[in-house]
Amino acid sequence: MYKRCLLAVLLFLVLSETNAQLPSQLAETDKRFNVFKQGFVDSLWVYYPAWATYSGFHAYDDVLSIPNENTRKKQEQYILRTLKKMEVFDMTLLSNQNRIDFYIIRDECNAILWSNLELNEHTWNAASYNLGGLINEILSYKDYSLTKRIENISRWLKNVPAYYEAAKMNLKDPVYEYAKLATEQSGGVLAMFDAITDSVKYSAVSAQQSNTIHKEIASAKKAAEAFYKWVESELIPLSSGADSRTFRLGKNLYEKKFSHSIHSEYTASEIYQKALMRKDELHYKMSKIAIELWPKYFGEQLKPLDEMVIVRKVLEAVSKNHVHRDSFMVSIKKQIPELETFVKEKNLLFLDPNKPLVVRETPEYMRGVAGASISAPGPYNPNAETYYNVTPLTHYTETQAESYLREYNHYVLQILNIHEAIPGHYTQLVYSNKAPSIIKSLFGNGAMVEGWAVYTELMMLENGYGNNEPEMWLMYYKWHLRSVCNTILDYHVHVLNMPEKDGIYFLTSQAFQEETEAKGKWKRATLRSVQLCSYYTGYYEIYALREELKKKMGNQFNLKQFHEDFLSYGSAPVKYIKEMMLFKVEESNQKKKK
Ligand code: ZN
Ligand code: ZN
Repeated sequence: MYKRCLLAVLLFLVLSETNAQLPSQLAETDKRFNVFKQGFVDSLWVYYPAWATYSGFHAYDDVLSIPNENTRKKQEQYILRTLKKMEVFDMTLLSNQNRIDFYIIRDECNAILWSNLELNEHTWNAASYNLGGLINEILSYKDYSLTKRIENISRWLKNVPAYYEAAKMNLKDPVYEYAKLATEQSGGVLAMFDAITDSVKYSAVSAQQSNTIHKEIASAKKAAEAFYKWVESELIPLSSGADSRTFRLGKNLYEKKFSHSIHSEYTASEIYQKALMRKDELHYKMSKIAIELWPKYFGEQLKPLDEMVIVRKVLEAVSKNHVHRDSFMVSIKKQIPELETFVKEKNLLFLDPNKPLVVRETPEYMRGVAGASISAPGPYNPNAETYYNVTPLTHYTETQAESYLREYNHYVLQILNIHEAIPGHYTQLVYSNKAPSIIKSLFGNGAMVEGWAVYTELMMLENGYGNNEPEMWLMYYKWHLRSVCNTILDYHVHVLNMPEKDGIYFLTSQAFQEETEAKGKWKRATLRSVQLCSYYTGYYEIYALREELKKKMGNQFNLKQFHEDFLSYGSAPVKYIKEMMLFKVEESNQKKKK
Protein backbone atom coordinates (compact mmCIF):
# COMPACT_ATOMS: atom_id res chain seq x y z
CA MET A 1 0.00 0.00 0.00
CA TYR A 2 2.73 2.41 1.08
CA LYS A 3 4.90 1.54 -1.90
CA ARG A 4 2.10 2.26 -4.31
CA CYS A 5 1.39 5.65 -2.75
CA LEU A 6 5.03 6.58 -2.91
CA LEU A 7 5.19 5.59 -6.53
CA ALA A 8 2.16 7.70 -7.32
CA VAL A 9 3.70 10.70 -5.60
CA LEU A 10 6.98 10.26 -7.44
CA LEU A 11 5.19 9.94 -10.72
CA PHE A 12 3.26 13.06 -9.91
CA LEU A 13 6.46 14.99 -9.21
CA VAL A 14 8.11 13.83 -12.42
CA LEU A 15 5.07 14.69 -14.45
CA SER A 16 4.40 18.04 -12.87
CA GLU A 17 8.02 18.99 -13.36
CA THR A 18 8.03 18.13 -17.03
CA ASN A 19 4.64 19.73 -17.43
CA ALA A 20 5.84 22.94 -15.88
CA GLN A 21 9.14 23.19 -17.61
CA LEU A 22 8.64 21.88 -21.07
CA PRO A 23 5.18 22.54 -22.47
CA SER A 24 6.54 22.78 -26.00
CA GLN A 25 8.31 19.46 -25.73
CA LEU A 26 5.10 17.95 -24.44
CA ALA A 27 3.10 19.12 -27.43
CA GLU A 28 5.94 18.14 -29.72
CA THR A 29 5.96 14.54 -28.44
CA ASP A 30 2.20 14.28 -28.91
CA LYS A 31 2.52 15.59 -32.44
CA ARG A 32 5.20 13.06 -33.28
CA PHE A 33 3.18 10.31 -31.67
CA ASN A 34 0.09 11.22 -33.70
CA VAL A 35 2.14 10.90 -36.89
CA PHE A 36 3.47 7.54 -35.70
CA LYS A 37 -0.05 6.32 -34.89
CA GLN A 38 -1.44 7.14 -38.30
CA GLY A 39 1.58 5.54 -39.96
CA PHE A 40 1.13 2.45 -37.82
CA VAL A 41 -2.50 1.96 -38.84
CA ASP A 42 -1.80 2.72 -42.52
CA SER A 43 0.95 0.12 -42.70
CA LEU A 44 -0.96 -2.36 -40.55
CA TRP A 45 -3.45 -2.68 -43.43
CA VAL A 46 -0.67 -3.46 -45.88
CA TYR A 47 0.22 -6.50 -43.78
CA TYR A 48 -3.35 -7.39 -42.78
CA PRO A 49 -5.62 -6.56 -45.77
CA ALA A 50 -8.53 -8.72 -44.57
CA TRP A 51 -8.48 -7.00 -41.19
CA ALA A 52 -8.67 -3.66 -43.06
CA THR A 53 -11.72 -4.77 -45.00
CA TYR A 54 -13.45 -5.99 -41.84
CA SER A 55 -12.65 -2.66 -40.14
CA GLY A 56 -14.39 -0.74 -42.92
CA PHE A 57 -11.19 0.40 -44.69
CA HIS A 58 -11.62 -0.77 -48.27
CA ALA A 59 -8.42 0.24 -50.06
CA TYR A 60 -7.15 -3.35 -49.93
CA ASP A 61 -10.28 -5.14 -51.04
CA ASP A 62 -8.40 -6.48 -54.06
CA VAL A 63 -5.69 -8.19 -51.99
CA LEU A 64 -6.04 -11.67 -50.53
CA SER A 65 -2.94 -12.49 -48.52
CA ILE A 66 -1.81 -16.10 -48.51
CA PRO A 67 -1.49 -17.46 -44.96
CA ASN A 68 1.91 -19.08 -45.39
CA GLU A 69 5.17 -18.97 -43.43
CA ASN A 70 6.50 -16.14 -45.59
CA THR A 71 3.50 -13.89 -44.87
CA ARG A 72 3.68 -14.63 -41.15
CA LYS A 73 7.41 -13.80 -41.06
CA LYS A 74 6.77 -10.46 -42.78
CA GLN A 75 3.94 -9.64 -40.38
CA GLU A 76 6.09 -10.55 -37.44
CA GLN A 77 8.98 -8.37 -38.62
CA TYR A 78 6.59 -5.49 -39.13
CA ILE A 79 5.31 -5.85 -35.57
CA LEU A 80 8.85 -6.03 -34.19
CA ARG A 81 9.79 -2.88 -36.13
CA THR A 82 6.74 -1.13 -34.68
CA LEU A 83 7.74 -2.03 -31.13
CA LYS A 84 11.27 -0.78 -31.83
CA LYS A 85 9.92 2.53 -33.18
CA MET A 86 7.91 3.02 -30.01
CA GLU A 87 11.03 2.99 -27.85
CA VAL A 88 11.89 6.58 -28.81
CA PHE A 89 8.77 8.00 -27.15
CA ASP A 90 9.04 9.29 -23.63
CA MET A 91 5.72 8.18 -22.24
CA THR A 92 5.73 10.81 -19.51
CA LEU A 93 5.58 13.48 -22.21
CA LEU A 94 2.41 12.12 -23.80
CA SER A 95 -1.12 13.37 -23.13
CA ASN A 96 -3.40 10.99 -21.20
CA GLN A 97 -5.26 9.92 -24.33
CA ASN A 98 -2.05 9.26 -26.24
CA ARG A 99 -0.47 7.45 -23.35
CA ILE A 100 -3.37 5.00 -23.37
CA ASP A 101 -3.03 4.64 -27.15
CA PHE A 102 0.65 3.92 -26.61
CA TYR A 103 -0.17 1.14 -24.14
CA ILE A 104 -2.80 -0.30 -26.46
CA ILE A 105 -0.52 -0.43 -29.51
CA ARG A 106 2.27 -2.00 -27.45
CA ASP A 107 -0.10 -4.59 -25.95
CA GLU A 108 -1.69 -5.45 -29.30
CA CYS A 109 1.72 -5.90 -30.92
CA ASN A 110 2.73 -8.26 -28.14
CA ALA A 111 -0.57 -10.10 -28.48
CA ILE A 112 0.01 -10.61 -32.21
CA LEU A 113 3.53 -11.92 -31.61
CA TRP A 114 2.27 -14.26 -28.92
CA SER A 115 -0.51 -15.65 -31.05
CA ASN A 116 1.90 -16.24 -33.97
CA LEU A 117 4.61 -17.83 -31.89
CA GLU A 118 2.76 -19.63 -29.13
CA LEU A 119 -0.96 -19.95 -29.69
CA ASN A 120 -0.39 -21.09 -33.28
CA GLU A 121 -4.06 -21.11 -34.15
CA HIS A 122 -3.22 -21.47 -37.85
CA THR A 123 -1.99 -25.01 -37.17
CA TRP A 124 -5.15 -26.25 -35.43
CA ASN A 125 -8.19 -24.13 -36.29
CA ALA A 126 -9.56 -25.22 -39.68
CA ALA A 127 -12.54 -22.88 -39.29
CA SER A 128 -10.23 -19.87 -39.32
CA TYR A 129 -9.84 -20.35 -43.09
CA ASN A 130 -13.28 -19.03 -43.89
CA LEU A 131 -13.49 -16.72 -46.90
CA GLY A 132 -17.29 -16.35 -46.86
CA GLY A 133 -17.45 -13.37 -44.51
CA LEU A 134 -14.72 -11.57 -46.40
CA ILE A 135 -16.40 -12.02 -49.79
CA ASN A 136 -19.57 -10.65 -48.24
CA GLU A 137 -17.75 -7.57 -46.86
CA ILE A 138 -16.18 -6.80 -50.25
CA LEU A 139 -19.32 -7.43 -52.30
CA SER A 140 -21.61 -5.43 -50.05
CA TYR A 141 -19.44 -2.31 -49.73
CA LYS A 142 -21.87 0.13 -51.32
CA ASP A 143 -19.47 3.11 -51.54
CA TYR A 144 -17.83 1.39 -54.52
CA SER A 145 -19.75 0.77 -57.74
CA LEU A 146 -20.66 -2.85 -58.31
CA THR A 147 -18.25 -2.90 -61.24
CA LYS A 148 -15.37 -1.75 -59.04
CA ARG A 149 -16.28 -4.35 -56.43
CA ILE A 150 -16.27 -7.04 -59.09
CA GLU A 151 -12.90 -5.87 -60.36
CA ASN A 152 -11.51 -5.96 -56.83
CA ILE A 153 -12.81 -9.41 -56.19
CA SER A 154 -11.48 -10.60 -59.52
CA ARG A 155 -7.92 -9.68 -58.51
CA TRP A 156 -8.52 -11.23 -55.12
CA LEU A 157 -9.85 -14.52 -56.52
CA LYS A 158 -6.53 -15.30 -58.20
CA ASN A 159 -5.01 -16.05 -54.81
CA VAL A 160 -7.77 -18.36 -53.58
CA PRO A 161 -6.18 -21.66 -54.73
CA ALA A 162 -2.86 -20.69 -53.10
CA TYR A 163 -4.78 -19.62 -50.00
CA TYR A 164 -6.27 -23.08 -49.50
CA GLU A 165 -2.97 -24.79 -50.34
CA ALA A 166 -1.32 -22.80 -47.54
CA ALA A 167 -4.19 -23.68 -45.18
CA LYS A 168 -3.64 -27.39 -45.84
CA MET A 169 0.08 -27.02 -45.17
CA ASN A 170 -0.59 -25.17 -41.91
CA LEU A 171 -3.15 -27.52 -40.39
CA LYS A 172 -0.71 -30.00 -38.91
CA ASP A 173 -2.31 -30.29 -35.50
CA PRO A 174 -6.07 -30.07 -36.12
CA VAL A 175 -8.68 -29.85 -33.37
CA TYR A 176 -11.81 -31.89 -34.03
CA GLU A 177 -14.39 -29.27 -32.98
CA TYR A 178 -12.96 -26.69 -35.39
CA ALA A 179 -12.65 -29.15 -38.27
CA LYS A 180 -16.29 -30.03 -37.68
CA LEU A 181 -17.24 -26.35 -37.58
CA ALA A 182 -15.41 -25.75 -40.86
CA THR A 183 -17.47 -28.41 -42.60
CA GLU A 184 -20.67 -27.04 -41.06
CA GLN A 185 -19.83 -23.65 -42.53
CA SER A 186 -18.69 -24.93 -45.93
CA GLY A 187 -22.13 -24.63 -47.55
CA GLY A 188 -22.34 -20.96 -46.65
CA VAL A 189 -18.84 -20.28 -47.94
CA LEU A 190 -19.46 -22.03 -51.27
CA ALA A 191 -22.72 -20.08 -51.66
CA MET A 192 -20.69 -16.85 -51.44
CA PHE A 193 -18.76 -17.85 -54.57
CA ASP A 194 -22.11 -18.23 -56.33
CA ALA A 195 -23.07 -14.80 -55.03
CA ILE A 196 -20.10 -13.38 -56.94
CA THR A 197 -21.34 -15.08 -60.13
CA ASP A 198 -24.77 -13.52 -59.60
CA SER A 199 -23.33 -10.05 -59.04
CA VAL A 200 -21.29 -10.12 -62.25
CA LYS A 201 -24.56 -10.15 -64.19
CA TYR A 202 -25.62 -6.81 -62.74
CA SER A 203 -22.27 -5.07 -63.12
CA ALA A 204 -20.96 -3.13 -66.13
CA VAL A 205 -17.87 -5.27 -66.75
CA SER A 206 -17.17 -6.01 -70.41
CA ALA A 207 -18.11 -9.34 -71.95
CA GLN A 208 -14.46 -10.32 -72.15
CA GLN A 209 -13.82 -9.39 -68.51
CA SER A 210 -16.90 -11.28 -67.46
CA ASN A 211 -15.61 -14.35 -69.23
CA THR A 212 -12.30 -14.21 -67.36
CA ILE A 213 -14.04 -13.60 -64.05
CA HIS A 214 -16.31 -16.60 -64.49
CA LYS A 215 -13.25 -18.76 -65.05
CA GLU A 216 -11.61 -17.33 -61.93
CA ILE A 217 -14.71 -17.91 -59.84
CA ALA A 218 -14.88 -21.48 -61.09
CA SER A 219 -11.30 -22.30 -60.17
CA ALA A 220 -11.57 -20.53 -56.81
CA LYS A 221 -14.74 -22.42 -55.96
CA LYS A 222 -13.10 -25.67 -57.05
CA ALA A 223 -10.22 -24.98 -54.65
CA ALA A 224 -12.69 -24.29 -51.83
CA GLU A 225 -14.61 -27.50 -52.54
CA ALA A 226 -11.38 -29.48 -52.61
CA PHE A 227 -10.36 -27.95 -49.29
CA TYR A 228 -13.61 -28.89 -47.58
CA LYS A 229 -13.44 -32.39 -49.02
CA TRP A 230 -9.96 -32.69 -47.61
CA VAL A 231 -11.17 -31.48 -44.19
CA GLU A 232 -13.92 -34.11 -44.28
CA SER A 233 -11.82 -37.04 -45.51
CA GLU A 234 -8.44 -36.37 -43.88
CA LEU A 235 -8.58 -33.69 -41.22
CA ILE A 236 -11.57 -34.99 -39.29
CA PRO A 237 -10.16 -38.53 -38.96
CA LEU A 238 -6.75 -37.06 -38.10
CA SER A 239 -8.28 -34.89 -35.38
CA SER A 240 -10.39 -37.71 -33.90
CA GLY A 241 -7.48 -39.77 -32.61
CA ALA A 242 -6.92 -40.39 -28.91
CA ASP A 243 -3.78 -38.27 -28.88
CA SER A 244 -5.09 -35.52 -31.16
CA ARG A 245 -4.96 -31.95 -29.93
CA THR A 246 -7.86 -31.00 -27.65
CA PHE A 247 -9.96 -27.83 -27.96
CA ARG A 248 -9.18 -27.10 -24.32
CA LEU A 249 -6.44 -24.51 -24.00
CA GLY A 250 -4.96 -25.71 -20.72
CA LYS A 251 -3.77 -23.51 -17.86
CA ASN A 252 -0.72 -21.98 -19.54
CA LEU A 253 -2.28 -20.91 -22.86
CA TYR A 254 -5.52 -19.92 -21.17
CA GLU A 255 -3.82 -17.53 -18.74
CA LYS A 256 -1.85 -15.99 -21.58
CA LYS A 257 -4.82 -15.64 -23.89
CA PHE A 258 -6.78 -14.07 -21.05
CA SER A 259 -4.02 -11.57 -20.43
CA HIS A 260 -3.54 -10.75 -24.15
CA SER A 261 -7.23 -10.26 -24.89
CA ILE A 262 -8.86 -9.02 -21.67
CA HIS A 263 -5.99 -6.79 -20.50
CA SER A 264 -7.12 -7.02 -16.89
CA GLU A 265 -5.02 -6.19 -13.87
CA TYR A 266 -5.94 -9.67 -12.60
CA THR A 267 -5.04 -13.14 -13.78
CA ALA A 268 -7.68 -15.54 -15.10
CA SER A 269 -7.49 -17.65 -11.98
CA GLU A 270 -7.95 -14.59 -9.74
CA ILE A 271 -11.07 -13.61 -11.70
CA TYR A 272 -12.28 -17.20 -11.50
CA GLN A 273 -11.98 -17.11 -7.69
CA LYS A 274 -13.84 -13.80 -7.52
CA ALA A 275 -16.60 -15.17 -9.76
CA LEU A 276 -17.02 -18.22 -7.50
CA MET A 277 -17.47 -15.94 -4.49
CA ARG A 278 -19.87 -13.70 -6.36
CA LYS A 279 -21.96 -16.71 -7.34
CA ASP A 280 -22.42 -17.73 -3.71
CA GLU A 281 -23.26 -14.17 -2.74
CA LEU A 282 -25.89 -13.95 -5.50
CA HIS A 283 -27.42 -17.30 -4.50
CA TYR A 284 -27.72 -16.04 -0.93
CA LYS A 285 -29.38 -12.77 -2.00
CA MET A 286 -31.73 -14.55 -4.38
CA SER A 287 -32.91 -17.07 -1.83
CA LYS A 288 -33.62 -14.30 0.67
CA ILE A 289 -35.85 -12.48 -1.83
CA ALA A 290 -37.49 -15.68 -3.08
CA ILE A 291 -38.45 -16.73 0.45
CA GLU A 292 -39.91 -13.28 1.05
CA LEU A 293 -41.89 -13.45 -2.21
CA TRP A 294 -43.13 -17.00 -1.71
CA PRO A 295 -46.51 -16.17 -0.08
CA LYS A 296 -47.26 -13.52 -2.71
CA TYR A 297 -47.05 -16.07 -5.52
CA PHE A 298 -47.87 -19.35 -3.79
CA GLY A 299 -50.12 -18.31 -0.90
CA GLU A 300 -50.53 -21.00 1.69
CA GLN A 301 -48.69 -23.61 -0.38
CA LEU A 302 -45.88 -25.19 1.62
CA LYS A 303 -42.34 -23.96 0.77
CA PRO A 304 -39.90 -26.60 -0.55
CA LEU A 305 -37.01 -27.36 1.80
CA ASP A 306 -34.27 -26.72 -0.74
CA GLU A 307 -33.68 -22.98 -1.12
CA MET A 308 -32.51 -23.35 -4.71
CA VAL A 309 -35.87 -24.97 -5.51
CA ILE A 310 -37.69 -22.05 -3.92
CA VAL A 311 -35.65 -19.63 -6.04
CA ARG A 312 -36.40 -21.59 -9.19
CA LYS A 313 -40.12 -21.70 -8.51
CA VAL A 314 -40.39 -18.01 -7.70
CA LEU A 315 -38.34 -17.13 -10.80
CA GLU A 316 -40.77 -19.14 -12.91
CA ALA A 317 -43.77 -17.42 -11.36
CA VAL A 318 -42.34 -13.92 -11.77
CA SER A 319 -41.37 -14.66 -15.40
CA LYS A 320 -45.04 -14.95 -16.30
CA ASN A 321 -45.26 -11.19 -16.08
CA HIS A 322 -44.31 -10.25 -19.66
CA VAL A 323 -45.53 -8.15 -22.58
CA HIS A 324 -47.69 -9.60 -25.33
CA ARG A 325 -45.73 -10.81 -28.38
CA ASP A 326 -47.31 -8.14 -30.59
CA SER A 327 -46.25 -5.31 -28.31
CA PHE A 328 -42.64 -6.47 -27.82
CA MET A 329 -41.23 -3.86 -30.20
CA VAL A 330 -43.54 -1.06 -29.03
CA SER A 331 -42.70 -1.58 -25.39
CA ILE A 332 -38.96 -1.37 -26.10
CA LYS A 333 -39.50 1.86 -28.05
CA LYS A 334 -41.51 3.28 -25.17
CA GLN A 335 -38.85 2.40 -22.61
CA ILE A 336 -35.94 4.28 -24.17
CA PRO A 337 -37.23 7.81 -23.30
CA GLU A 338 -38.16 6.54 -19.82
CA LEU A 339 -34.59 5.43 -19.23
CA GLU A 340 -33.32 8.79 -20.47
CA THR A 341 -35.60 10.63 -18.06
CA PHE A 342 -34.46 8.49 -15.15
CA VAL A 343 -30.76 9.06 -15.91
CA LYS A 344 -31.34 12.83 -16.10
CA GLU A 345 -33.51 13.06 -13.00
CA LYS A 346 -31.06 11.10 -10.89
CA ASN A 347 -28.13 13.04 -12.30
CA LEU A 348 -26.25 9.89 -13.26
CA LEU A 349 -24.47 11.19 -16.34
CA PHE A 350 -24.89 13.64 -19.19
CA LEU A 351 -26.76 12.29 -22.23
CA ASP A 352 -26.12 14.09 -25.50
CA PRO A 353 -29.57 15.17 -26.81
CA ASN A 354 -28.13 15.58 -30.33
CA LYS A 355 -27.52 11.87 -30.71
CA PRO A 356 -30.85 10.13 -30.34
CA LEU A 357 -30.87 6.38 -30.64
CA VAL A 358 -32.89 4.94 -33.51
CA VAL A 359 -34.90 1.85 -32.57
CA ARG A 360 -35.69 -0.30 -35.61
CA GLU A 361 -36.61 -3.82 -36.61
CA THR A 362 -33.51 -5.90 -37.23
CA PRO A 363 -32.84 -5.94 -41.00
CA GLU A 364 -33.53 -9.35 -42.57
CA TYR A 365 -29.89 -10.09 -43.46
CA MET A 366 -28.84 -9.70 -39.82
CA ARG A 367 -31.52 -11.89 -38.33
CA GLY A 368 -30.24 -15.10 -36.88
CA VAL A 369 -31.34 -15.49 -33.34
CA ALA A 370 -34.05 -13.29 -31.93
CA GLY A 371 -33.09 -10.52 -29.60
CA ALA A 372 -31.73 -7.03 -29.48
CA SER A 373 -28.38 -5.55 -30.43
CA ILE A 374 -26.69 -2.25 -31.10
CA SER A 375 -25.39 -1.52 -34.63
CA ALA A 376 -22.67 1.04 -34.33
CA PRO A 377 -20.86 2.77 -37.19
CA GLY A 378 -17.23 1.68 -37.54
CA PRO A 379 -14.19 3.96 -37.16
CA TYR A 380 -14.22 4.90 -40.84
CA ASN A 381 -17.86 5.91 -40.82
CA PRO A 382 -18.35 7.92 -37.62
CA ASN A 383 -21.34 10.03 -38.71
CA ALA A 384 -23.63 7.13 -39.56
CA GLU A 385 -26.67 6.53 -37.35
CA THR A 386 -26.57 4.14 -34.45
CA TYR A 387 -29.40 1.64 -34.41
CA TYR A 388 -30.99 -0.43 -31.72
CA ASN A 389 -32.02 -3.54 -33.62
CA VAL A 390 -34.96 -5.43 -32.21
CA THR A 391 -36.09 -8.63 -33.88
CA PRO A 392 -39.89 -8.92 -33.80
CA LEU A 393 -41.30 -12.27 -32.76
CA THR A 394 -43.42 -12.69 -35.89
CA HIS A 395 -41.68 -15.87 -37.08
CA TYR A 396 -42.09 -17.61 -33.72
CA THR A 397 -44.63 -20.28 -32.94
CA GLU A 398 -46.86 -19.68 -29.93
CA THR A 399 -44.67 -21.89 -27.72
CA GLN A 400 -41.39 -20.35 -28.90
CA ALA A 401 -42.75 -16.85 -28.36
CA GLU A 402 -44.01 -17.71 -24.88
CA SER A 403 -40.65 -19.16 -23.85
CA TYR A 404 -38.79 -16.18 -25.26
CA LEU A 405 -41.11 -13.70 -23.57
CA ARG A 406 -40.73 -15.43 -20.21
CA GLU A 407 -36.96 -15.16 -20.58
CA TYR A 408 -37.27 -11.48 -21.53
CA ASN A 409 -40.07 -10.82 -19.08
CA HIS A 410 -41.27 -7.44 -17.78
CA TYR A 411 -38.18 -7.06 -15.56
CA VAL A 412 -35.45 -8.56 -17.70
CA LEU A 413 -36.57 -6.56 -20.73
CA GLN A 414 -35.84 -3.36 -18.82
CA ILE A 415 -32.42 -4.62 -17.76
CA LEU A 416 -31.71 -5.57 -21.37
CA ASN A 417 -32.55 -2.03 -22.48
CA ILE A 418 -30.27 -0.60 -19.81
CA HIS A 419 -27.48 -2.91 -21.00
CA GLU A 420 -27.85 -2.41 -24.75
CA ALA A 421 -29.04 1.17 -24.88
CA ILE A 422 -29.21 3.65 -22.00
CA PRO A 423 -26.93 4.13 -20.16
CA GLY A 424 -25.16 0.94 -21.41
CA HIS A 425 -23.58 0.27 -24.80
CA TYR A 426 -25.23 3.08 -26.69
CA THR A 427 -24.28 5.79 -24.18
CA GLN A 428 -20.72 4.48 -23.91
CA LEU A 429 -20.42 4.65 -27.68
CA VAL A 430 -21.56 8.28 -27.83
CA TYR A 431 -18.90 9.17 -25.27
CA SER A 432 -16.14 7.23 -26.98
CA ASN A 433 -16.92 8.96 -30.28
CA LYS A 434 -16.38 12.32 -28.59
CA ALA A 435 -12.68 11.59 -28.16
CA PRO A 436 -12.15 9.79 -31.43
CA SER A 437 -9.08 7.63 -31.53
CA ILE A 438 -8.59 5.25 -34.39
CA ILE A 439 -6.50 3.07 -32.07
CA LYS A 440 -9.30 2.70 -29.52
CA SER A 441 -11.89 2.10 -32.22
CA LEU A 442 -9.83 -0.63 -33.84
CA PHE A 443 -8.62 -2.29 -30.68
CA GLY A 444 -11.62 -1.41 -28.50
CA ASN A 445 -11.35 -3.38 -25.29
CA GLY A 446 -14.21 -5.89 -25.10
CA ALA A 447 -14.00 -6.25 -21.32
CA MET A 448 -14.36 -2.48 -20.83
CA VAL A 449 -17.26 -2.24 -23.29
CA GLU A 450 -19.17 -5.22 -21.88
CA GLY A 451 -18.11 -4.41 -18.34
CA TRP A 452 -19.60 -0.92 -18.63
CA ALA A 453 -22.94 -2.28 -19.86
CA VAL A 454 -23.02 -4.84 -17.04
CA TYR A 455 -22.01 -2.20 -14.48
CA THR A 456 -24.84 0.15 -15.54
CA GLU A 457 -27.46 -2.54 -14.84
CA LEU A 458 -26.52 -2.59 -11.17
CA MET A 459 -25.87 1.15 -11.00
CA MET A 460 -29.38 1.95 -12.24
CA LEU A 461 -30.98 -0.36 -9.68
CA GLU A 462 -28.78 1.03 -6.90
CA ASN A 463 -30.18 4.44 -7.76
CA GLY A 464 -33.75 3.28 -7.44
CA TYR A 465 -34.62 2.23 -10.96
CA GLY A 466 -37.54 -0.21 -10.69
CA ASN A 467 -38.55 1.24 -7.30
CA ASN A 468 -36.59 -1.42 -5.44
CA GLU A 469 -39.28 -3.95 -6.21
CA PRO A 470 -38.08 -7.35 -4.95
CA GLU A 471 -39.07 -8.92 -8.29
CA MET A 472 -36.80 -6.50 -10.12
CA TRP A 473 -33.84 -7.32 -7.88
CA LEU A 474 -34.47 -11.04 -8.11
CA MET A 475 -34.55 -10.94 -11.90
CA TYR A 476 -31.51 -8.69 -11.97
CA TYR A 477 -29.57 -11.17 -9.86
CA LYS A 478 -30.54 -13.99 -12.17
CA TRP A 479 -29.43 -11.97 -15.17
CA HIS A 480 -26.16 -10.99 -13.51
CA LEU A 481 -25.57 -14.57 -12.42
CA ARG A 482 -25.37 -15.43 -16.10
CA SER A 483 -22.18 -13.42 -16.70
CA VAL A 484 -20.72 -14.69 -13.43
CA CYS A 485 -21.41 -18.34 -14.28
CA ASN A 486 -20.26 -17.96 -17.88
CA THR A 487 -16.89 -16.83 -16.52
CA ILE A 488 -16.74 -19.84 -14.23
CA LEU A 489 -17.79 -22.19 -17.04
CA ASP A 490 -15.07 -20.94 -19.39
CA TYR A 491 -12.41 -21.62 -16.77
CA HIS A 492 -13.90 -25.02 -15.97
CA VAL A 493 -13.83 -25.96 -19.63
CA HIS A 494 -10.37 -24.77 -20.59
CA VAL A 495 -8.36 -25.13 -17.40
CA LEU A 496 -10.15 -27.70 -15.25
CA ASN A 497 -11.19 -30.13 -18.03
CA MET A 498 -14.84 -30.23 -17.10
CA PRO A 499 -16.85 -32.75 -19.19
CA GLU A 500 -19.76 -31.39 -21.24
CA LYS A 501 -22.56 -32.94 -19.17
CA ASP A 502 -21.15 -31.41 -15.98
CA GLY A 503 -20.89 -28.05 -17.71
CA ILE A 504 -24.53 -28.14 -18.78
CA TYR A 505 -25.57 -29.28 -15.32
CA PHE A 506 -23.59 -26.45 -13.76
CA LEU A 507 -25.37 -23.80 -15.85
CA THR A 508 -28.86 -25.23 -15.43
CA SER A 509 -28.59 -25.88 -11.69
CA GLN A 510 -26.42 -22.95 -10.58
CA ALA A 511 -27.37 -20.22 -13.05
CA PHE A 512 -31.00 -21.28 -13.68
CA GLN A 513 -30.36 -21.41 -17.42
CA GLU A 514 -32.56 -23.38 -19.78
CA GLU A 515 -31.04 -26.51 -21.34
CA THR A 516 -30.87 -24.93 -24.83
CA GLU A 517 -29.18 -21.80 -23.53
CA ALA A 518 -26.68 -23.88 -21.55
CA LYS A 519 -25.83 -25.95 -24.63
CA GLY A 520 -25.26 -22.76 -26.62
CA LYS A 521 -22.95 -21.49 -23.90
CA TRP A 522 -21.01 -24.74 -23.91
CA LYS A 523 -20.46 -24.45 -27.64
CA ARG A 524 -19.42 -20.83 -27.31
CA ALA A 525 -16.92 -21.67 -24.59
CA THR A 526 -15.56 -24.49 -26.75
CA LEU A 527 -15.04 -22.36 -29.83
CA ARG A 528 -14.33 -18.91 -28.42
CA SER A 529 -12.26 -19.35 -25.30
CA VAL A 530 -11.88 -16.39 -22.91
CA GLN A 531 -14.55 -14.21 -24.57
CA LEU A 532 -17.20 -15.34 -22.06
CA CYS A 533 -15.08 -13.85 -19.25
CA SER A 534 -15.09 -10.32 -20.60
CA TYR A 535 -18.47 -9.33 -19.11
CA TYR A 536 -17.79 -10.18 -15.51
CA THR A 537 -14.12 -9.16 -15.53
CA GLY A 538 -14.88 -5.70 -16.93
CA TYR A 539 -17.79 -5.26 -14.52
CA TYR A 540 -15.68 -6.28 -11.54
CA GLU A 541 -12.88 -3.88 -12.36
CA ILE A 542 -15.17 -0.89 -13.01
CA TYR A 543 -17.13 -1.48 -9.82
CA ALA A 544 -13.93 -1.89 -7.79
CA LEU A 545 -12.50 1.30 -9.28
CA ARG A 546 -15.60 3.23 -8.31
CA GLU A 547 -15.44 1.96 -4.74
CA GLU A 548 -11.73 2.74 -4.50
CA LEU A 549 -12.30 6.30 -5.69
CA LYS A 550 -15.16 6.74 -3.24
CA LYS A 551 -12.80 5.83 -0.41
CA LYS A 552 -10.00 8.04 -1.67
CA MET A 553 -12.17 11.08 -2.38
CA GLY A 554 -14.60 10.94 0.52
CA ASN A 555 -17.27 13.61 0.17
CA GLN A 556 -15.53 14.93 -2.95
CA PHE A 557 -16.74 11.87 -4.83
CA ASN A 558 -19.48 12.55 -7.34
CA LEU A 559 -21.14 9.71 -9.23
CA LYS A 560 -21.96 11.74 -12.35
CA GLN A 561 -18.41 13.04 -12.52
CA PHE A 562 -17.05 9.52 -12.09
CA HIS A 563 -19.14 8.17 -14.98
CA GLU A 564 -18.29 11.01 -17.32
CA ASP A 565 -14.58 10.88 -16.49
CA PHE A 566 -14.49 7.14 -16.86
CA LEU A 567 -16.15 7.22 -20.28
CA SER A 568 -13.99 10.09 -21.56
CA TYR A 569 -11.03 7.74 -22.06
CA GLY A 570 -12.79 5.71 -24.74
CA SER A 571 -12.95 1.91 -25.02
CA ALA A 572 -9.60 1.35 -23.32
CA PRO A 573 -8.68 -1.41 -20.85
CA VAL A 574 -10.05 -0.56 -17.40
CA LYS A 575 -6.61 -0.85 -15.78
CA TYR A 576 -5.28 2.03 -17.91
CA ILE A 577 -8.31 4.22 -17.28
CA LYS A 578 -7.82 3.46 -13.61
CA GLU A 579 -4.20 4.59 -13.77
CA MET A 580 -5.25 7.94 -15.29
CA MET A 581 -8.13 8.48 -12.88
CA LEU A 582 -6.13 7.65 -9.76
CA PHE A 583 -3.41 9.94 -10.97
CA LYS A 584 -5.88 12.79 -11.31
CA VAL A 585 -7.10 12.27 -7.75
CA GLU A 586 -3.53 12.11 -6.46
CA GLU A 587 -2.79 15.33 -8.32
CA SER A 588 -5.71 17.23 -6.83
CA ASN A 589 -4.93 15.93 -3.33
CA GLN A 590 -1.38 17.22 -3.74
CA LYS A 591 -2.66 20.64 -4.82
CA LYS A 592 -4.89 20.85 -1.76
CA LYS A 593 -1.96 20.11 0.56
CA LYS A 594 0.12 22.94 -0.89
ZN1 ZN B 1 -47.23 -15.88 -20.99
ZN1 ZN C 1 -23.30 -6.30 -24.17
